[in-house]
Amino acid sequence: MKNKRIFLSAPHMSGNELKYIEKVFESNYIAPLGEYVNKFEESIKNYTGVKNALAVVSGTAAIHLALRVLGIKEGDDVLASTFTFIGSVNAILYQRANPIFIDSDNDSWNLSPKLLNKYLCTCEKKPKALIVTHLYGMCADIEKIADICNLHGVYLIEDAAESLGATYNGKHTGTFGDFGIYSFNGNKILTTSGGGMLVSNNAKWIEKAKFYSTQAKEDFIHYEHEEYGYNYRMSNVLAAIGVAQMEVIEERVAKKREIFGWYEEYLSNIDEIIFMPELSNSRGNRWLTALTFSKSDYNKVMQALDKINVESRPLWKPMHIQKLFEDAKCIVDGTSEKLFSQGLCLASSTTMTRDDVEMICKTIIDSLD
Ligand SMILES: *Cc1c(COP(=O)(O)O)cnc(C)c1O
Repeated sequence: MKNKRIFLSAPHMSGNELKYIEKVFESNYIAPLGEYVNKFEESIKNYTGVKNALAVVSGTAAIHLALRVLGIKEGDDVLASTFTFIGSVNAILYQRANPIFIDSDNDSWNLSPKLLNKYLCTCEKKPKALIVTHLYGMCADIEKIADICNLHGVYLIEDAAESLGATYNGKHTGTFGDFGIYSFNGNKILTTSGGGMLVSNNAKWIEKAKFYSTQAKEDFIHYEHEEYGYNYRMSNVLAAIGVAQMEVIEERVAKKREIFGWYEEYLSNIDEIIFMPELSNSRGNRWLTALTFSKSDYNKVMQALDKINVESRPLWKPMHIQKLFEDAKCIVDGTSEKLFSQGLCLASSTTMTRDDVEMICKTIIDSLD
């Protein structure tokens, strides 16, 4: 293949990353902490409006810290979106708690508030927390979900790993719950090569998370320990990349949405295609353009795209049909399984052009039944 491969969501630097990394090297604060970790946290707070933020090594680590701070322990039930990526729910297992998976609805493709409410109104044992994912950067019906959690006394953790920049009624995803998390892994809308952010409006909880993330050292001159902790803090070098990336977040959201608009335009007359919906009072970041084919086999589309050196990927396989979770409880109605059987994520890298999208759409149309 002569043309360069087009990836789902390739890293896209702003241009200031190396400059800030050089500053880190000049200061010799290469490793843990330093000025850029604070700056990165400040930029997330300023952008999302959340009161407190903690930069950590990954989104997965951020979720783990949230569960630990909330006191989730062995035997506790934790609800979660079934239509998500494994990084969303692995930490439930780290805490030896029991995941219970809730299906999506057709309005948002994200967690169904109806199924959530039904379960909470009828369950014998009250779950301690819910981890809800804003999949592919598109908002779940988060106000409704937050109200239901409040009513039933269930902690809410928003997995906004994919949805930095997405808003619901003008408010950022990740800031509705008791905790929110963002990921800066390699293919997310912004990247620090690897990294995450834990956010909350509760200062005490973020303070406690910081304590756990730095080996749980008690406040003594010598190293004194009463609890076990983790080594989860972000390095100053990676935070420097994060600060430079945050300077272009709105540009990246605008470009992702533009790419989605192009796909929508070129595929608008194909009846069997349904794009992931956007709730009317929300702005998703369209991290990946996601769609389903009601008649054609998505594998054929994937193969055709691969032949022209373009990456695509099936929608996430729901957690409740993973072997890992064969014994877990689930509240499902077939929605996410249907999405998984019909759907694809299309290349949505922010360096793509309208011509790229046009070429991809022609290939898709030619490969349909
Ligand atoms: C990427 C991702 C995570 C995990 O983030 P890492 O930084 O890779 O640990 C969690 N949940 C979802 C939905 C993700 O897409």
